[in-house]
Amino acid sequence: MYPCIYKARRIITLDPDVPEIWDAGLAVQHGRIVAVGPWSELKSCGPVHDLGPVTLVPGLINAHAHLELSHLAGAIPQGLGFSAWADSLFALLRTSARKQNSAQSFNDYVGQGLACVLDVCSRPGHTYAQLEQAGIHIVSVQEYAGRVRKIDDTANTLTWSRAAHALYSTQAEFVVQLKQWCENQGKVFSIHLAEVPGENEFFVHGQGQFAEFLRARRILPKNFQSPGLSAVAYARSLGVLNARTLAVHCVHVDDADIDVLAHSGTRVCLCLRSNAWIGVGQPPVAALHEAEIPLCVGTDSLASNTDLDIWAELRAVRAVLPTITLTELLAMATRIPAELLGLGQEYGRLAVGNRACWAVLPEDWAELPV
Ligand SMILES: [Zn+2]
Repeated sequence: MYPCIYKARRIITLDPDVPEIWDAGLAVQHGRIVAVGPWSELKSCGPVHDLGPVTLVPGLINAHAHLELSHLAGAIPQGLGFSAWADSLFALLRTSARKQNSAQSFNDYVGQGLACVLDVCSRPGHTYAQLEQAGIHIVSVQEYAGRVRKIDDTANTLTWSRAAHALYSTQAEFVVQLKQWCENQGKVFSIHLAEVPGENEFFVHGQGQFAEFLRARRILPKNFQSPGLSAVAYARSLGVLNARTLAVHCVHVDDADIDVLAHSGTRVCLCLRSNAWIGVGQPPVAALHEAEIPLCVGTDSLASNTDLDIWAELRAVRAVLPTITLTELLAMATRIPAELLGLGQEYGRLAVGNRACWAVLPEDWAELPV
């Protein structure tokens, strides 16, 4: 059986050896790429599908979502600030809305070219039939908060890895245990870090509006003692920052925190549109990028975003980093998260052996240099 040959004006491979190919061809057999190169070399290898004057890039990866909150799309107003947003979320989760809207279609939300989602969930076993039927790979990570309890090993077939919600909501000892569980299995540990204004004030001094919010809602773990450190420094002191940790948000980080993140090898997931929606501020994207911290992008949930479109997240990054190269920008949604998830031989590059899973570069970006 011959491979199918896909013809495109350009392919951006995310493969450092051959970053881009003009007048390109991609040979596909059994769902895998068997050759990528100039069209002239591949055109006689099999039946041809001409995709037209488009630029192909690897399929996109959403590195932070909570799909189980998708029924809350549009339910919480924008710009309330974190405390009011969280109160609205808690109130909505107490209602039966979750069940009522179970038939919610994701198709309007996911955007074009999505390959994979790192989905943080509270309840393992949730299946995302619509996304999976569309060929989207769901990497499910079970999230814990509160006091130490048994980490559910039996859920391994349902969820891939484990997450702690945040340092302010999860007992420190439990955060360490969850990270250790992930380390023992060679998997990614995810945690929301330095998202909320006042988070650092709370960890350093044990007071402030955010501290009052946490105490009033009984979110704080029992007998919590402020460590006298910023959120990032506190995470480092617990030993949970390394190259298999995905720190989500990192909005309120100073130069010292960025240094800690960079030296520990921590991966940071930017969720700029969610940050804007809730009104928690924006991370110092340029400084994080300059520090060469491997960055991913995520939408967070539909409780704090209009959609799950990774192109829109990349546009938000480009808006604050206008000089970033296309390759660097695309890497945040392709190569970097694919390698983090141990899926570098599946997604993240258009290279021989990887899945034939691509996205089409938006037309208005077609002239940007790689
Ligand atoms: Zn989140």
